[in-house]
Amino acid sequence: MISYSKVLSMIKRVVKPSGPRHAQIFVTRKCNYRCRDCNVWMSQESQELSTEEVKRSLDILREIGVLEIVFSGGNPLLRDDMGEIINYASKYFITTVYDNGSLAANKIDEIRNADFVAISLDTLDEKKNDYLKGVNGAWRKAMNAIDALKKEGIHVGVSPTISQMNLYEIIDFTKFFIKREIPVWYCLYAYDYSFNNSAFSIGIKNDEYEITDRETLAEICSILIEMKKKSGCIYITDRTLKAIRHLALTGERSWECRALENFLVVDHLGRVSSCHCRDPIASIFDLPKIWKSPYIKRLRNEYRQCTRCVYLCYIFYSVHAGFPGLMDIIVDQWRNVKAYMGK
Ligand code: SF4
Ligand code: SF4
Repeated sequence: MISYSKVLSMIKRVVKPSGPRHAQIFVTRKCNYRCRDCNVWMSQESQELSTEEVKRSLDILREIGVLEIVFSGGNPLLRDDMGEIINYASKYFITTVYDNGSLAANKIDEIRNADFVAISLDTLDEKKNDYLKGVNGAWRKAMNAIDALKKEGIHVGVSPTISQMNLYEIIDFTKFFIKREIPVWYCLYAYDYSFNNSAFSIGIKNDEYEITDRETLAEICSILIEMKKKSGCIYITDRTLKAIRHLALTGERSWECRALENFLVVDHLGRVSSCHCRDPIASIFDLPKIWKSPYIKRLRNEYRQCTRCVYLCYIFYSVHAGFPGLMDIIVDQWRNVKAYMGK
């Protein structure tokens, strides 16, 4: 059950007039997988923030109003200190940690205090999944990890990246897991940006993945909206699904990007950007000094007009910006919010 001190600390941040609510921290560039839609594993850069620096970063994010932290990478669980970091973060934030399915089952004690553990898995087809992940045995390990974590009472979910490679399987995939009461939350394959100076990049262009059948994508959104009425295990809001459906059918965005307003990212070296596609704006340690500056205000306005990417998490954070957006998440996911609060 969530502690009262955590609830109180989050309420204090919610009533703050401004502040990004979501931060993703890419705590490492190291990865043990070779996914075909990702370039992170190609660098295996070993430099990263120390444990104390990550903790200080979390303190700063808390000060400016962040409520939710997502740890990803690379594979965050490759860090030996990840247990300590998760324990620290989960005292103050809704904390999610990603794993590609290879490490979580052997790190139960380290991840036990995370609010959510997301295992990335793209398809029920074992061979295809291993092909997409670039590693033999990836599918089996991910399925075993999901079972092991569930048995341990850890809040584990499965996170497929929707692409042309698995588009026609997504509904059956979702049904398979929600029948077993495993939550599903989605990513969307995207490689539709071109910035020269991004702080770091995580995707690579892969034509096999590019979603060409947009009508089916729209239909999937409609089906998921219907399925959500019966199952609380689908962790995506109607508002987000409607925005994606509208985009798929018309090519038009029904939202403005709220980068640096409702979300930001921090990379393995502590560089802060609006999103992983954009230039770094500051070191996390300098962020408090500039957070309310005209410079940040100008960037927010500029990013509101940006239409360069369709990463699902950034769409979600944008369509749910501000206090009304936050309330909409709570109403949409009320069953899960109640379960989370332990009531
Ligand atoms: S997508 Fe994730 S698991 Fe796959 S190579 Fe990239 S960082 Fe590793
Ligand atoms: S639309 Fe927003 S999240 Fe995407 S590249 Fe532009 S600023 Fe970043």
